[in-house]
Amino acid sequence: SLANSHDVGPRSAEAFSRAHRLMPGGVNSPARAFGAVGGTPLFIERAEGPYLFDIDGRRFIDYIGSWGPMILGHAHPEVIEAITKAAQRGTSYGAPTEAESRLAEQIIEAVPSVEKVRLVNSGTEATMSAIRVARGATGRDKIIKFSGNYHGHVDSLLVAAGSAAATLGVPDSPGVTKGAGKDTIVLRYNDVAGVKAAFAKHPGEIAAVILEPVVGNMGCVAGSPEFLQTLRDETTRDGSILIFDEVMTGFRLAFGGAQERFGVTPDMTTLGKIVGGGMPLGAYGGRADIMDQVLPAGKVFQAGTLSGNPVAVAAGSKTLEILRNDPPYEYLENLGIRLAQGLDQAAFDAGIDYQVQAVGSMMTLFFNTDPVNEWADADQSDREAFGRYFWGLISKGVYMPCSQFEALFFGRTHTEAMIDETIDAAKSVLASFA
Ligand code: PMP
Repeated sequence: SLANSHDVGPRSAEAFSRAHRLMPGGVNSPARAFGAVGGTPLFIERAEGPYLFDIDGRRFIDYIGSWGPMILGHAHPEVIEAITKAAQRGTSYGAPTEAESRLAEQIIEAVPSVEKVRLVNSGTEATMSAIRVARGATGRDKIIKFSGNYHGHVDSLLVAAGSAAATLGVPDSPGVTKGAGKDTIVLRYNDVAGVKAAFAKHPGEIAAVILEPVVGNMGCVAGSPEFLQTLRDETTRDGSILIFDEVMTGFRLAFGGAQERFGVTPDMTTLGKIVGGGMPLGAYGGRADIMDQVLPAGKVFQAGTLSGNPVAVAAGSKTLEILRNDPPYEYLENLGIRLAQGLDQAAFDAGIDYQVQAVGSMMTLFFNTDPVNEWADADQSDREAFGRYFWGLISKGVYMPCSQFEALFFGRTHTEAMIDETIDAAKSVLASFA
């Protein structure tokens, strides 16, 4: 059934079989292989504003936005100009530049918890480094993460994503040693009692708690106000470091991220995606006394040949400048309400079991009978129905994340008309389910 519904052009199909011979699974990052919907990915030729164009010459309204970064739309002229000018001055020096301080200043001004920051090359590097610094700063080994939260492919964080109960880490991937997961305590998201119990059981042993304050990586699931406040209170009381992984939410749910939106300030923050304006750039930052543990100010080692790369910094800096001077957040909020209401109506009319969960410009239509508050709930979703929905939308020119467990994103170049076109497409796809 699913196999017959794939709507992929001949050139993409051919490109994928070639790529398969050259790269594992044909891709450089697994999600984009469309594995969760059992298919062949579309190969992209170019992107502009809210649109992706595949190599078969088809155009799609893009609700992935490179998995988050493209809040200004693809190929924003000012961002491209900044990238071009930077590249003409040389693409990497391995030496300090004034532009890095400018971007650091922009991040520090925007994000409440960040007093000092270090630039890295990806979200994974940011979370890996933040964990190391938290352990170095506290002299403790254990960390708490939550099932269904993704923090990149860091060994110690690649544990028990998808496990519902509080378990001591069992690695999710071959190649991650038992040792790497042994100090990772995995708890259920939004489980206030579980957090309190873990601190009661391991007083003075937990270096850090890391979480997505709004999860994108099990579909869109918001941390409850009580959950976020409990984390803030328990970590403060225990002398543990609270890390918000705002790789997805940073500069998206508000200019200052989820921490600004919800008024809970962590000790450290990890950033990626938007902060690099579509170039490879991440950042981690936080309280100055914690960040001063990092070499050469302190003793925690973390380094990078391409860190603070001038081209990536130019893209990120221009993106943050535009977001600050001409904030799109109210507009995105209204588009989000419009899309959520439209999808809600479409699913309701089709008579299916569903939940629309949204925070600002992050959203998921869950094929699920009940609200999703943690991974065990998300895991009940009907993946097969999601696959049909996904391919149905592809046929209608709408490019959604290719998994039930990813949030969709849109940006400031999406219009109300495009949102309405998307809702109409969803209506007709879902109506065909009956
Ligand atoms: N943290 C979160 C919350 C993420 O969503 C991601 C990537 N989707 C990462 C970390 C890892 O970032 P990267 O893919 O840039 O390594």
